[in-house]
Amino acid sequence: MQRRAVEAPGMERVIIIGSGPAGLTAAIYAARANLRPLVLAGGLYGGQLMLTTDVENYPGFPEGVRGPDLMIKFREQAERFGARVQNVDATSVDFSKQPLIVRTQDEEYESEAVIVATGASARWLDVPGEELLRGRGVSSCATCDGAFFRDKHIVVVGGGDSAMEEALFLTRFGSRVTVIHRRDRLRASKIMADRAFSHEKIDFLWNTAVDEVHGTTHVTGLRLRNLLDGKSHDFPADALFVAIGYTPNTAVFAGQLDLDERGYIVSPDGTSTNVEGIFVAGDVNDHRYRQAVTAAGAGCRAAMDAERHLEALEFKVDSLAHLRAAQS
Ligand code: NAP
Repeated sequence: MQRRAVEAPGMERVIIIGSGPAGLTAAIYAARANLRPLVLAGGLYGGQLMLTTDVENYPGFPEGVRGPDLMIKFREQAERFGARVQNVDATSVDFSKQPLIVRTQDEEYESEAVIVATGASARWLDVPGEELLRGRGVSSCATCDGAFFRDKHIVVVGGGDSAMEEALFLTRFGSRVTVIHRRDRLRASKIMADRAFSHEKIDFLWNTAVDEVHGTTHVTGLRLRNLLDGKSHDFPADALFVAIGYTPNTAVFAGQLDLDERGYIVSPDGTSTNVEGIFVAGDVNDHRYRQAVTAAGAGCRAAMDAERHLEALEFKVDSLAHLRAAQS
């Protein structure tokens, strides 16, 4: 269906905030609906997949695909149909009235609809030494920083798929990789866990918490605590990769959209929010599946619902105009 371009000067039809699989899929669908979406892609364009290595479970890539390569393809596909992608962050919003307002550092945009697809960011342990040594041995991104620790002893904290993925990747560089987990069972999928268990460079420390990161210019070790007997000890290590899950990127929407107790945007049906014209997609509202393919599906749904919303608005405007014409 060809949509007529009816936007008022300076008024966007739909702004998409975020550029991971959810945001860029929404952009592909909105662009193909001739809505010329403006994508505020954020500083970390491409979302979390820009920080991953091989994606082996995205359909259509039997050999796997590198995360950044996949996101470049998403972007090219969206731009091919007229999406305008800008590598800027949304810094504030005003969703209290129509038109909806989205601000960046330099611009203020008005829009009839907004799709929020800002994703989630890596969580940190919040222990002494962690922040000081970030970028100096403490990291949340093995792809970005792993190569700095060739032949070193690397620690990974976490028991999920991210932790296993990071640990396996880091075996390319480290002489030894120790996974520290707070329980005695992994949360990771069986296939990832089996790979980690069978890797000769990876060992595990169970029921253990990291209480402190030691070092001044670089990481020299960790203070660990056994969670069963409460005893602490120092553990030499050259690097700490934290892989303990994610926090939704919703700070900009606090007070504007309904958030749950963990900060995820509340959506009664998976795309709509408490504000008319605002739709949501991807990890910013999904703490259950959090997959590239589910985020992409959510982006598609959000764009189709935004399109229907805009159609309904047009219909309302047309009906009012007819009514007024008939009355005059
Ligand atoms: P996750 O599944 O939520 O796992 C987080 C892990 O960190 C859990 O083991 C958790 O321990 C631990 N943890 C949480 N807070 C902690 C703290 N303060 N201190 C110490 N440990 C803490 O997160 P994820 O591994 O990032 O995975 C997120 C989603 O992405 C999942 O759906 C996953 O399947 C998917 N994913 C898939 C792949 C892949 O297929 N290649 C790769 C990466 C991620 P508990 O177990 O005790 O809760």
